[in-house]
Parts: sequence; structure tokens; C-alpha cells
Amino acid sequence: MFLIENSDTKEREKFDGGIIPFSGGIDSSGVLYHCLTKNPEKHFLLMKVCLYNSISANRMTKEKEAVHAILNYLRDAGLKNFEYREMEYHYPTLGVPPLWDSEIVYFAAATCIRAYPEINCLYEGVTADDYEGEGTDFNERLDKYADILRLVADKTADNFSIQMPLNHMTKLEIMRLLPPELLNMTWSCRYPIPKETYSYKLERCHFCPPCKVIDKALVDFEGRN
Ligand SMILES: [Zn+2]
Repeated sequence: MFLIENSDTKEREKFDGGIIPFSGGIDSSGVLYHCLTKNPEKHFLLMKVCLYNSISANRMTKEKEAVHAILNYLRDAGLKNFEYREMEYHYPTLGVPPLWDSEIVYFAAATCIRAYPEINCLYEGVTADDYEGEGTDFNERLDKYADILRLVADKTADNFSIQMPLNHMTKLEIMRLLPPELLNMTWSCRYPIPKETYSYKLERCHFCPPCKVIDKALVDFEGRN
């Protein structure tokens, strides 16, 4: 006689730590590392939202490589207080994306929170550098993302918080916070380019906003080139 385990009767571990959107970049890696190491008794849900528009295939390739390398690194380091989910959205026929990436990520996070209603906070990888962009009110954008999330997840500001634990730190400070091995696995460039014609090896573009911040920080950062 075979006994088949019924997953419905098995108690799942609650995500009492919260949800962490994880792109594989320096900022979200910093938040992820901070949350897992500072709250070893808590259980987190990590989510990678893969956004395939008309120009993002190279970026998704590198980000997914980074995410899986980092998760393996964390597990090997004994940090296992998380579960990982991956979601994909394909919209290349829309041409220039009509939405900010973060708007889609927050919508996707909200659908996860509907599935796991005990989740009462989201950790966002905002840094001090993010507030220095010209011509945009960054706080207004963050408020909009929070509104999208709470509306779709059916939450309120009283029962759901957006945490930004590293928003007082610059990217350079976060680079110094991360173990060097983990830092070297991150990928933050938005528009990776082939190293040479017909090459699958992709390199940073050095002109997108994250590359500009990283290149500036690298001048002061020792141990990485
Ligand atoms: Zn770049």
C-alpha cells in the first residue's frame, strides 16, 4: 500500500518576516542580506519578477544568473530562512513599456501577498543615491508603488508597511556591507551589451543610471574592478 502525502494537510511555514523583491542587483542584495542575517528567526518570501519587454532579454539573462548564484551562496553560508518564487511577464509587443518596472513588481508582489495573507511588510532596496535623481520626485513614486500594492493586496497602511532599511546608506556603503564574494555575483546594469560581435558574454554598459552610480562608487571602492 502506498501512502501519498497530502500537501493540503501539511502545515506550511508562515512568512512572518515579510516579502523581499529580489532583482539580483546591489541594492536588493543588500536588503536581502540585511534581513536574513538580522532576523534569523524570521521566515522570508523572496520573489524575482522577470520583465521581458522589447529590450530586456540581456538584462534578464544576467539578473537571473545573479539571483541563482546569490541564493546558492546564501544557502551554502547557512542562511536558509527564506523561500524563493519566480514570476515572468512577457510584453515585447507593447513597444516602449507604458509602465515603470517597479509598478509591475509591486503589482506582482501584491498577488503573492494575496496568496500568503500573513505577510505584513515588504522590504524595498532604496538607497540614499536614489533620492538624488534630477526631475523626479522619488518619494511620490514610492507612494504610488505603495498605493498599487495595498490596493491589489487588499491591505492598508495600518496593517502593511513598506520597509526601506538601507535608505540611509549610499551604494558604496552597501557594497562595503556585502561579503565580497556575494557582491561579485550581483548584477545591476540595465542594458548589458555583448563583449564583442557574436559573443554571448555580456558586459556592463557603463551609461545606464545604475552603472553611472556604480562606476562612481568603484573609484572609492577597493577590492573590485
Ligand atoms: Zn549599465
